[in-house]
Amino acid sequence: MNNSCFSKAEILCVGTELLMGDIVNTNAAYISRRLARLGIGVYRQAVVGDNPARLAEDVRAALSRSDLVIMSGGLGPTYDDLTKETVASVFGRKLTMHAPSLARIESYFASTGRVMTENNKKQAMMPEGAVVFPNDYGTAPALALENEEGKVVVMLPGPPRELEPLFCEQVEPYLKKRCASIMVSRNLHIIGMGESAVESELPQEIKDSTNPTVAPYCVPGEVRLRVTARDKDESHAMRLCDAMIERLMALPIGRFVYGIDVPDPAHALVGALMARGMTVATAESCTGGLIAKKLTDVAGCSTVVAGGAVTYQTREKEQILGVDPALIATHTAVSEPVAKEMAQGVLARFGVDLAIATTGYAGPGGGTEQEPVGTVYVAVATKDAVICRRLTLGARRDRAYVREVAAVQAISQAIGVLGGNLQKS
Ligand code: ATP
Ligand code: MG
Repeated sequence: MNNSCFSKAEILCVGTELLMGDIVNTNAAYISRRLARLGIGVYRQAVVGDNPARLAEDVRAALSRSDLVIMSGGLGPTYDDLTKETVASVFGRKLTMHAPSLARIESYFASTGRVMTENNKKQAMMPEGAVVFPNDYGTAPALALENEEGKVVVMLPGPPRELEPLFCEQVEPYLKKRCASIMVSRNLHIIGMGESAVESELPQEIKDSTNPTVAPYCVPGEVRLRVTARDKDESHAMRLCDAMIERLMALPIGRFVYGIDVPDPAHALVGALMARGMTVATAESCTGGLIAKKLTDVAGCSTVVAGGAVTYQTREKEQILGVDPALIATHTAVSEPVAKEMAQGVLARFGVDLAIATTGYAGPGGGTEQEPVGTVYVAVATKDAVICRRLTLGARRDRAYVREVAAVQAISQAIGVLGGNLQKS
């Protein structure tokens, strides 16, 4: 293979169903993200239908501009799957039977108990000179073709559950040989501080650092600090990140870091409860079980998640959670006293160490002048204390947004009650 580094890449996705809007082009987004990590600039993304003439035209144009073209789709066994044949003709290469691929396809069919049809053999035909990447996740192998100028076309099967692992496991090691530098990112997850507060806590020399770079960004319920380093050697880039993370953890913001490279607050909360041998229960009104859903998304949560109650109507808040009807009459169901009693009620009812409760107006209807749509009270109770926060998530946001952010904020608040510095990976 040519040794010069890739400088420009294009992504070309094949499929009439993409052009029709029947499926969303998640492959292009995925490939772009992965190429960015490899330090390869993506200059264009394009979609073309299952039409060999237009496909050939687009492949030629991409090769005239760029030195790397990554394609997805059209490697299947049917007559409209034409990617390999078309690229082979652009390169002036013949297709020949690739015996190892044929053997793999035959054994794939044998292992899944399906009958292999004659047209599946088409998937084992490869252009001369192709680098073949065996596919453990489906039948069509991926492949790369390099022309005399060292320009490369990589062809990947369309289904994301095949494309993504194939790209990570096989295409990336192949591309890395021609990458100037590899990018490695790690994320510090922060709860209890806003984005601008985090930024103002960073010393100027950290903000100015170019390798690694440090950048704060927001996701619902938390702030993250992304630390990104570049180096030809991936493990050296990782060491640069780790050294910066050590510096960041020594700053005052270190106390607000609940995890490093953790998936989300729910995983962090469940992990923290496990580490402390504590249990949790939820009492949800406007979030309708979303908090319980997020906590039970975490594998192995059964040792800490006792259960929860969705108490949407007033009667249920009173009967199941023991909220005082007089309190609701005085303050309405969407109020701090009611949220607190819901949390304390579910704490007692389930006999747990920690309880989370929500009550609010998710909209689009409801709300009052003082308590408009988007107002949510989130209470967290332990045996010793109960705290409540009023969230104002904006009347113009939609119902799904209000519920999602309220659920994440509630989980974040519970993490805050347990104390910062919860989980390091
Ligand atoms: P198959 O063997 O399944 O036919 P293929 O390589 O020929 O694989 P396509 O026929 O182009 O791929 O697409 C198969 C399926 O993969 C599509 O129906 C779609 O669900 C998914 N897919 C294809 N391209 C994309 C894309 N760019 N983004 C997301 N999903 C895609
Ligand atoms: Mg197909």
